[in-house]
Amino acid sequence: MIRAFFQPTEIEEALRLGRELGDSAAFLAGGTELNAGYASPPPNLISLARLDLGGIEKRAGLLAVPATHTIQRILDAPGIPPVLAKACRNIVNRNVRNMATIGGHIACRKSCSDIIPALVALQASMEMTLVATGEEKSCPVMEFVESALPGALIRRVLVPDESGRGVAIESYTRSGNDMSIITVAASIGFQEDKVERPILVVGGVAKSAVRLEDLESSIDGGPLPPLEEIEERVKESVSPISDLRGSAELKRHLAGVLMARALGRAAKAKEGGER
Ligand SMILES: Cc1cc2nc3c(=O)[nH]c(=O)nc-3n(C[C@H](O)[C@H](O)[C@H](O)COP(=O)(O)OP(=O)(O)OC[C@H]3O[C@@H](n4cnc5c(N)ncnc54)[C@H](O)[C@@H]3O)c2cc1C
Repeated sequence: MIRAFFQPTEIEEALRLGRELGDSAAFLAGGTELNAGYASPPPNLISLARLDLGGIEKRAGLLAVPATHTIQRILDAPGIPPVLAKACRNIVNRNVRNMATIGGHIACRKSCSDIIPALVALQASMEMTLVATGEEKSCPVMEFVESALPGALIRRVLVPDESGRGVAIESYTRSGNDMSIITVAASIGFQEDKVERPILVVGGVAKSAVRLEDLESSIDGGPLPPLEEIEERVKESVSPISDLRGSAELKRHLAGVLMARALGRAAKAKEGGER
């Protein structure tokens, strides 16, 4: 049960409360996760709603998106990379998008997140402050998702706005009002006809989104293999579990098919069209 609800107006105050209350507190953003029936929030909530993190800033080569921006606000903002806009649109409906924030979304590290794979493929990073020490830190979104980094207040998500690479996402959902079962993102560059530093991300096959690093390095520097081969190799690379949302076999199949499709589209869009 929630005992105390704090509404700091300054980041320093939010951090001080976080430090003092420790594990008995959580930052509350849109509350779509913390207030969901199945979640058990800690007794103290530190609302981020009154912090003024400003608007989306254009910096050299990137967009700095405040962590407290809702998914809908990002979707409505001008100049958002099309792949990020598409990922935001995949969050089930406007009611959820109006509440859920990008910071809360990343902090949840959900397995089948619609947005994390897109951010990783776009090579996005984050600015945050560690609650315990006040140290400011930035790291790629994937590093945050993979780490068990506790107690950080995410302040901004930094999304490169031009990379000259092709990026595409694909997902599969049982209905328009359900979370995706599998989400994938592919980013690819070319040096003449050789694949350059591919990024292949799959959500829904592990505790949080994963990069297929072995497959990435095996196709780096060579011609793009046939997409049928990519499909088979992705199926061999992932180890999903069977659950209510689908069997392991179905998820493995979807991951392969969707990644082959995304990579094919990313390769076609390498001049930047699809971003
Ligand atoms: C009905 C429903 C449908 C959904 N559909 C989809 C879907 O289709 N696709 C999809 O990908 N996701 C979906 N989600 C998940 C949703 O996107 C996440 O729940 C949401 O983005 C979390 O953001 P929030 O602001 O509500 O987080 P909150 O619930 O406020 O917080 C979640 C966690 O993040 C922490 N946190 C929040 N902000 C910060 C910050 N700035 N720094 C550090 N920690 C922070 C909190 O302490 C808490 O641990 C759905 C959720 C619901 C409830």
